[in-house]
Formats: sequence, structure tokens, C-alpha cells
Amino acid sequence: MGDRRRCFVAMGPTRRECPLERDIRYFGDPVLRTPAEPVTDFDVELRKLVDDLNETMMGAHGVGLAAPQIGVSLRVFVYHVDEDEFGHLINPVLKLEGDPEEDDEGCLSLPGLQFPTLRAPRAIATGFDMYGEPVKIEGTELLARCVQHETDHLDGILFIDRLDKKQRKLAMQAIREAEWFGMPKPEIKVSPHPTARIS
Ligand SMILES: [Zn+2]
Repeated sequence: MGDRRRCFVAMGPTRRECPLERDIRYFGDPVLRTPAEPVTDFDVELRKLVDDLNETMMGAHGVGLAAPQIGVSLRVFVYHVDEDEFGHLINPVLKLEGDPEEDDEGCLSLPGLQFPTLRAPRAIATGFDMYGEPVKIEGTELLARCVQHETDHLDGILFIDRLDKKQRKLAMQAIREAEWFGMPKPEIKVSPHPTARIS
């Protein structure tokens, strides 16, 4: 088990449940194909969602995670590209710059798969933090790729949709052969394995 002392975090006069590592939804789950709703309430529920997303992303050693990937159809994602580039973004709007470049890309909702995917080399993402304050993320390379990938999730788009015809065919074949494909929908439960955590 991980360090479950984090199970309750003091929050002013009240206590709240600590971040929970949630089950990640796999390709085939309709929530991944549903355009997510904009966030309108920047409340404690939203902050809990951001905490849960961070916990789940770190537990899965991911670079980014969008809310639909844990079954929540809201326009929220978290990212952790490196120790200097991590955070979350709500209701993102993207501005892309430069000629698209190809690099290997993967997704926690399609575990084990990696395919060369075209992405703009620079991205400027604007949106809000969990307190409703405006946020701007300017990224190149992996951060630019990550915010494009995660924002796609909020529109019901997966990276395999962006592959060329030949690569997409290979991806679909790999999905059909993947052990996770067609598994029953997971129940929400506490992860039995320890979770990594920064700071
Ligand atoms: Zn993904």
C-alpha cells in the first residue's frame, strides 16, 4: 500500500478526503469519445478532481491526464512533463504555431501503444486554474505535444485519430490484440500499489 497517511488533508476548519488514484478508462469506453463539458463551478469538487487526476497520473507514470480518462466529462487536464513543467488547466483554448512535427506518442487509455504522431511544435494554451484565475501555458516540444494531446481528449479525440492511414491500421490491430481491450468497465477502487508523488 502507498502512504495512506495522506488519506485526510487538513483544509481550514474542515477535513476532506485526500486525492484518490482512480481507474483509467481504456479505448472502447464511450466517455473517451464524448466531448467534455466546460467547467462552470470552481469549487471544492473541482479541486478534488484536480488532486485525483494528479494522483492517478503520477501513479501511472504519465506525462498528462485528462478528466474523461477517469470517467469525468469535464474540460480539465493535468500534466507533468518534468520538474519545472507541471500543473493543470481548465477550459483550455489552444493556439498552435509552426509546421507539424512527427514524434512517438502514447496514451494511458491505450497502454503499451506508441505511434508517430504529427503535432505543432509550439502551443500556447490559455484557460483557468482550479481557483478560476486565468492561466497561460507556453510550451515547445513535449509540453506542446502534451497540451495538444490532452486538449484532444476533452473533444473526444484520441491520438490514433491523428495517425496516417497505415499507422492507424497498425494501431487498430495492436488494440485488438491488447490484453486490456474489451475488458469490463473498472469499478472505482483504491489502488493496491504505492503511488509516486513529487514535492
Ligand atoms: Zn491520452
